[in-house]
Amino acid sequence: MSFFTDKQNAAPCPCGSGLTLGQCCGKFIDLDATPQKAVEVMRARYTAFALGHEDWLRATWAANKRPRKKIIDPQYKWLGLKIISTHEIDDKHATVEFIARARVGGSGAVRHHEVSRFEKRQDLWYYVDGDVLDK
Ligand SMILES: [Zn+2]
Repeated sequence: MSFFTDKQNAAPCPCGSGLTLGQCCGKFIDLDATPQKAVEVMRARYTAFALGHEDWLRATWAANKRPRKKIIDPQYKWLGLKIISTHEIDDKHATVEFIARARVGGSGAVRHHEVSRFEKRQDLWYYVDGDVLDK
């Protein structure tokens, strides 16, 4: 079973990897595969934001940092993701710098520039938190 239709799975992945959704972030959100790298979690979290998969965002957020309130704000229409750099600190810690663009409600586009921290716990990568840049 897939959360996505065949048509969605065959379309370009929202994360901008150049792969189809099914080959890229879709397989992680569908729980058919486990991300092996922090940057894969980063990309799939962007895609989960873009496609409205709250449960996957919650599941990949470190339990002690996970927000209680709803994560996805439906006012945001995500337009694209650019990975600036990834830094593997050791086999359990990594950071990913990215810029995500969105349109918010009826207004113009906004940029979200962040360095996110990821941590591997029990063999799974989790988003911990991040520093928002040039706000
Ligand atoms: Zn993707």
